[in-house]
Amino acid sequence: MTDELFREDALLRRCEARIISLDETGIGFDRTVCYPQGGGQAGDAGVLRLADGREITLADTRKGARPGEIVHLPATGADLSGLAVGMPVVVEIDWARRERHMRFHTATHLLCALVPHPVDGCSITAAYARLDFHMTEPLDKDALNAGLARLVSEAHPVSHRWITEAELDANPQLVRSMSVQPPRGQGRVRVMEIAGVDLQPCGGTHVANTAEIGAVVVTKIEKKSARTRRVVLGFAEPV
Ligand SMILES: [Zn+2]
Repeated sequence: MTDELFREDALLRRCEARIISLDETGIGFDRTVCYPQGGGQAGDAGVLRLADGREITLADTRKGARPGEIVHLPATGADLSGLAVGMPVVVEIDWARRERHMRFHTATHLLCALVPHPVDGCSITAAYARLDFHMTEPLDKDALNAGLARLVSEAHPVSHRWITEAELDANPQLVRSMSVQPPRGQGRVRVMEIAGVDLQPCGGTHVANTAEIGAVVVTKIEKKSARTRRVVLGFAEPV
């Protein structure tokens, strides 16, 4: 099991850790700041700092084969000689990339508040985000952009808390996504709240206030199928 530090504090950029596994699937640590690809959000990249001063580039982070396992994928061609289980290291994320994930991810929650339909697909990367809504009505890009700009400028705080699975079962309307069900079996589910705007189960990383989303805009709306409308988000400023 890896202690998932990013679940409680998405703003942590680095941590000390020990190597607990090391094989062709990647490197595991006893704790990490790196978010593993999941729930539509891309995994973190970063760097591994060794005690002797060497740095190993981490290209991506994924869930491992076993529950609770997280594997960090070294960049192609990285020199892993000398690494060993038990070795202390520092894990540091590529913050510029993660910050873009968090801005986009939080913006997708604002979209959920603006478009009251179930979500049946989601992808969040550093370059764009897209959200598929299960709906037949057309969407108005200008209206969505005006709504996003308003919710960003209103500077709503973003927070998370844990609820019991029984509480979730008693409030099925909280689950907006048809494609991603909240993880079960731990007795508790993490919910993300933008007070008065959106509340739903989510294990991803978010900015602390909607104002930090900044200039995120709807760049495209596509009719992916008779019952799916895809909304694509991009940054209005050059990145
Ligand atoms: Zn989220």
